[in-house]
Amino acid sequence: MYILLMGPPGAGKGTQAAKLVDKFSIPHISTGDMFRAAVKEGTHLGRQAKEFMDAGQLVPDSVTIGIVKERLAKPDCKTGFILDGFPRTLEQAAALDVTLDQLGIKLDRVVNITAPDDELVKRITGRRICKGCSATYHVVLNAPLVAGKCDKCGAELFQRGDDQAETVTKRLEVYQVQTEPLISYYRDKGVYAEINGLQPIDKVLDDVVTNLRGNRT
Ligand SMILES: [Zn+2]
Repeated sequence: MYILLMGPPGAGKGTQAAKLVDKFSIPHISTGDMFRAAVKEGTHLGRQAKEFMDAGQLVPDSVTIGIVKERLAKPDCKTGFILDGFPRTLEQAAALDVTLDQLGIKLDRVVNITAPDDELVKRITGRRICKGCSATYHVVLNAPLVAGKCDKCGAELFQRGDDQAETVTKRLEVYQVQTEPLISYYRDKGVYAEINGLQPIDKVLDDVVTNLRGNRT
């Protein structure tokens, strides 16, 4: 099962990725993990990527695509993968197509887990994290027993700067602008599927799995 997973911040993409890994026994390949692994392994491309990152620069597409290609060629991707965080641009999408062609892989589905912006803002701005043990809470959806205190260790809860309302609205805007062309691209290829991320976690998973199975008949 070759899956490309998309979704705005707060839609539950990470949760679904973990569930799909269990369900299909395929690796979850996120851009961040992929970069960290390449740098750690000290591959030629990993060293190049590190130079850009150390200099505070964006890693150029040529390097990023090379790293993606090396990762997807590894044996654990033989029966499938969940690719997450790549591609981000049409140029990267086209390069990914070339790479998959070379590897003899055909994407089964591009799954986009979505939710309306106001709901995403509500979810993200309600997040709180424990200063002591990093446990996560939500002021409404998963509230601690005592407001502002961690159930597990009693330490104080805080809100990440990234999760504050103004930043979240900006993050969502950037995400939409970036993603719109990719949605059209994969829709035209007939592999695009949109899943309602507002539903309970297990229902979202059900919908994703039903959609994936439907594609393989
Ligand atoms: Zn704690």
